[in-house]
Amino acid sequence: MNCLLEVSSLKAVYLVREGTIKATEDVSFEIFENTVTAIVGESASGKSTIIEAITRTLPPNGRILSGKVFYRTVGFDLLEMKEDELRKIRWKKIALVPQAAQQSLNPTMKIIDHFRDTIEAHGLNWSKDELINKASEKIKMVRLNPETVLYAYPMQLSGGMKQRVLIALALLLEPEILILDEPTSALDVLTQAHIVQLLKELKTQMNITLIFVTHDIAVAAELADNIFVIYGGCLVESSPTEKIFKEPKHPYTQGLINSIMAINADMSKVRAIPGDPPSLLNPPSGCRFHPRCEYAMEICKKERPQLIKLPDNVKVACHLYNEGGCKDE
Ligand code: ATP
Ligand code: SF4
Ligand code: MG
Repeated sequence: MNCLLEVSSLKAVYLVREGTIKATEDVSFEIFENTVTAIVGESASGKSTIIEAITRTLPPNGRILSGKVFYRTVGFDLLEMKEDELRKIRWKKIALVPQAAQQSLNPTMKIIDHFRDTIEAHGLNWSKDELINKASEKIKMVRLNPETVLYAYPMQLSGGMKQRVLIALALLLEPEILILDEPTSALDVLTQAHIVQLLKELKTQMNITLIFVTHDIAVAAELADNIFVIYGGCLVESSPTEKIFKEPKHPYTQGLINSIMAINADMSKVRAIPGDPPSLLNPPSGCRFHPRCEYAMEICKKERPQLIKLPDNVKVACHLYNEGGCKDE
């Protein structure tokens, strides 16, 4: 399988009055062609920051302090590219549907005008017919009726329909990589299930690589080939989906999997992860999970564990798996 995107040692922060929020720390991963990757983690763990850093869409107070985002088919590090070069790649190669993007739909513009804006922003000179044909094709792809939807205003559409429109817009220029930040949050359970179904269809019908962010590991389980687990701004585990459910390695992942398994399990055996998520303004030293980890050792307070390779394409950042470490299961 071809590696499409190689992210290494990505470190991004936000500058705030109180200091520096260390939102991602030394994040490294690979994205393979035609796979679906889910980035999971609790709220404020840095999931959106990773996405915004690799697409260079961080808010004005965000800074990328180090890292590389090598895009194979382009042959460049996206972090090194000039803004006008990057603009050519956005949407045509990598398209992003940001978190809460529904609010970005302009209430005074019909959906077709959003499609027109997108091509104009990319300097494309499509005729009116071409625009309508391509927009209709994409609207059909997300299982909506172009005859009504293209001429509707956003307020005339339900939340689920707006989410589909955003996906159709992102597909307009037929990107290689589609990134969706929380595509199912803020939707009711039934609509969430429909969006998951739609993404499954897109995955099988299109030659596309999907990366999506979710705080819901159950949605990740349904859709993803690979799962990246983020904790406190760090990638703590990356693993094929099946493997992570059978054999989660990182103590935090084990807690997450436990909590989802609990839905069908005997509630008396459910173990919530004790403690609170770390402050990223003053994150814990060493392993950022150490204050909540039942296996924490002295080294965990001092040294941040590096991501190490285990068999079966699993990677984990935990001192238990370093040479000499062992895990009492
Ligand atoms: P959620 O699941 O709630 O969307 P997330 O995992 O996407 O959370 P991020 O939005 O990446 O998390 O935030 C990571 C950290 O950075 C959090 O502590 C958050 O409060 C902080 N943060 C995010 N955006 C900004 C900003 N523009 N200015 C300051 N801090 C920010
Ligand atoms: Fe727990 Fe230490 Fe592993 Fe962190 S490095 S998860 S504290 S055992
Ligand atoms: Mg987010």
